[in-house]
Amino acid sequence: MEELICQGCGAQIQTTDPDQIGYTPKSSLDKEVVLCQRCFRLKHYNEIQDVSATDEDFLQMVSEIREKEGIVVHLIDIFDVEGSMLKSLSRIIGDKPVILAGNKMDLLPKSTNKRKLTQWLRSKAKDVGLIVEDVFLISSVKGYGLNDLTESIEFYRGGKDVYIVGTTNVGKSTFINRLIRQTTGEDHVITTSYFPGTTLGFISIPLDDQSSLIDTPGIVNHEQIAHYISDSDLKVITPKKEIKPRVFQLNSGQSLFFGGLGRIDFIKGERQSFVCYFANSLSIHRTKLENADNLYAEHKGGLLSPPEAESMENFPELKKSTYRIKEQKTDIVFPGLGWISLPDGEATVAAYSPKGVHLSLRKSFF
Ligand code: GDP
Repeated sequence: MEELICQGCGAQIQTTDPDQIGYTPKSSLDKEVVLCQRCFRLKHYNEIQDVSATDEDFLQMVSEIREKEGIVVHLIDIFDVEGSMLKSLSRIIGDKPVILAGNKMDLLPKSTNKRKLTQWLRSKAKDVGLIVEDVFLISSVKGYGLNDLTESIEFYRGGKDVYIVGTTNVGKSTFINRLIRQTTGEDHVITTSYFPGTTLGFISIPLDDQSSLIDTPGIVNHEQIAHYISDSDLKVITPKKEIKPRVFQLNSGQSLFFGGLGRIDFIKGERQSFVCYFANSLSIHRTKLENADNLYAEHKGGLLSPPEAESMENFPELKKSTYRIKEQKTDIVFPGLGWISLPDGEATVAAYSPKGVHLSLRKSFF
């Protein structure tokens, strides 16, 4: 096949994989102006659709924007901060100002301490070498926090371009579609403009005569738990509305299973409450620590699911980390799944997550 280039974003046209850059149905190939499906949808329906790229592809694509002027809005999923914070971002973007936006705030209980959450996001960004100008807590679905964010974008961009970056599934398309509606109105048709250079897969949405909002492909992070489970399992673990904390009063020698995707053993400490923040649809199973290994061996993929039985074959083993928690109220974070809050006081616990998905501790913000 002769090499075709999308007239919207410059991507090489392909007709085999709808999730990848440059996809066009075969039937559209003989049109005079060939657009990939993503540019076609933006042009005709004002709608952004996500495509994905690996970290390396992405690095290559954006290497050229390093030298260009503009600012970066890094969108992350508040429910999967570890999985959605891009470790290589500071290397990729050079010294552009970065605004961090924690999306899906509507899922957190009202009792969330937003100031502490914001501080934690800042420190997480710093851990990966990212100095952020500003942090916002938003909900792209509900519209929460978007006005403050867009004001800040206007301030920092100073008439320059705005690059929106994030891993897949953080809500990037929802966010951009909302911005488009907000700024152009429902019926306004957007014309995509070919982004100069060979930055394939970038979509440029004009903001004014000189500058654009640039949608970059969603980056795939293989450490995200979503990559180990089926789509139907993902539905079970993804919260759809505000999560209701579930409280378990535990004695030492008791364990909790979160489906079959995570586990915690209370090894030592006074009887205390373990407050669990997971999707309401994820089942939590309590058992005696001495029975826990057997229970998992016999019931993973069944009573202890997700993962469903069919996904068990490729599912990594659960890996154990032991923590001695002292005094301060602490959250144990299971990336992409949720977290458990332990009250003030001492406790020794063992927490388990699929090998490759790294657990972490933080000061609780509940
Ligand atoms: P993308 O892959 O980054 O473009 O993500 P999408 O925009 O396709 O969103 C991924 C999933 O997250 C979808 O199921 C969205 O409905 C959901 N989502 C996006 N933004 C929000 C939000 O603010 N709150 C909630 N609860 N869900 C969201």
